[in-house]
Amino acid sequence: MVRVRIERLTKLYGSTPALLELSLTAEAGEFLTVVGPSGSGKSTLLRLIAGLETASAGEIFFNDEPITHLPPQMRDVGMVFQNYALYPHMTVFENLAFPLRVRKWKRSAIQERVHAVARLLDLDGLLGRYPRELSGGQRQRVALGRALVRSPRLFLFDEPLSNVDAQLRATMRTELAALQRTLGITALYVTHDQTEALSLGDRVAVLIAGRLQQLAPPAELYMKPASVTVARFIGTPPMNFFTATVCCGALSVSSATIPLPDSLRLPEDSRWLLGVRAEALTLTTTDELHQLGNARVQGWEYAGYEILLSLEHPAAAFSPILVRLPASSRLPQPGEIVPLWLIPGTWCLFEPDSGVRVFPP
Ligand code: ADP
Repeated sequence: MVRVRIERLTKLYGSTPALLELSLTAEAGEFLTVVGPSGSGKSTLLRLIAGLETASAGEIFFNDEPITHLPPQMRDVGMVFQNYALYPHMTVFENLAFPLRVRKWKRSAIQERVHAVARLLDLDGLLGRYPRELSGGQRQRVALGRALVRSPRLFLFDEPLSNVDAQLRATMRTELAALQRTLGITALYVTHDQTEALSLGDRVAVLIAGRLQQLAPPAELYMKPASVTVARFIGTPPMNFFTATVCCGALSVSSATIPLPDSLRLPEDSRWLLGVRAEALTLTTTDELHQLGNARVQGWEYAGYEILLSLEHPAAAFSPILVRLPASSRLPQPGEIVPLWLIPGTWCLFEPDSGVRVFPP
C-alpha cells in the first residue's frame, strides 16, 4: 500500500499546459477517482505517475519517497487501460504469465502466482482459452490480472470499462470496487463519466482544463460543489441555477423571497447564483416549503421510477430548470403554468463572477 502525493505537477506540450500545478494526495489503500471532460489532463496525470511521460515541473511522492525521476519499471505500478490489448496469440495463462516471464521469474513461481491471481479473478476455468474466446468482461478481468500478477503497490486505471457494454459495466464496477477493497491496493481511476466516478471513489477529484477543481467524497461533491463549474459537471441532471438578489436581508428570486439563515450576512442589493438540485424542487406544497414563483412546463422525460420535468423560469441562469418528480405524479402538459416550491435547507449560493460557492460554508 502506498500513499501517493502529487505536488504542483505541471505538464506542458509545447506551450500548452495539459496539467497545471496539480496537487493532490491519494491515501494508502484509497480508491480515488479522477473525473473530467475529454482533454482535461486525466490520462496525462496517470502517465506521469506511471513514468511514461516526464513532468515539466512538480514532484510525485510514493509515501515520502520522490519518484519523479525513477524509470517506469522501478515504480511498481500496475496500469489497466481502456484498450487493454491482450496478446491475441497467447492463452489467458500466458497473458497472465507474461509480465513475470519478462522479469525472469522461475517456472514454479509463475505457476503458483498465475493460479492465485486467476482464482481471485474467477478466471481459473479460462486459463487455456485465447482472448478471442472470451467475453468483454472476461477480457477485462484478464487485463486486470495482468496488472495484478506483479503485486503492484499502486493501480492506475484509465477508463478501463469504457469498451464494455452498459449492463456489464455496472457489474464490473461493483466487482472492481470490491476487489480493490479486498486487496487494499491504492487505486487512481480515471473516467469522463461522473456517475462512474461518484459510484466508485472513496473520494473524487474533478479535473477541468488541467486544473483540480475539487477533491471530496462523492456526497460532498454532490451536495456542496466548490463552484458553478463543478455543480454543472457533477450529477444527473446537473444543478439548477437561479439569479438572486439580496433584498431586506432575504434572497429575492424573481417574485419570490427566500429567508437567509442568520449565519449568512450578505450586502443589500448584492447578486448571487442560487444552486438547487432537481430533487430539492417540487410542484406541490406543504407549509414548510419556500415559494419560487411560477414556471412554464417545456416537457418531461420518463425514467421509470421518476420523471424529469423541464421548466422555463424567469430567474433561470441556465435553461431549462429540471425538477425530479415521483413517477406517480400528475404530469402537467407542455405550456402549462405551474407553481414551483423549494425544500428549505437544500440550496447553495455561488458568487456570480468567480463561480465560487459561498454557502453552505
Ligand atoms: P484526457 O485524458 O482528460 O482526455 P489528456 O491527458 O489525454 O486528457 O490530454 C490533455 C491535453 O493534452 C489535451 O489537450 C491533449 O490534446 C494534450 N495532449 C495529450 N497528449 C499529448 C501529446 N503527446 N502531444 C501534444 N498534446 C498532447
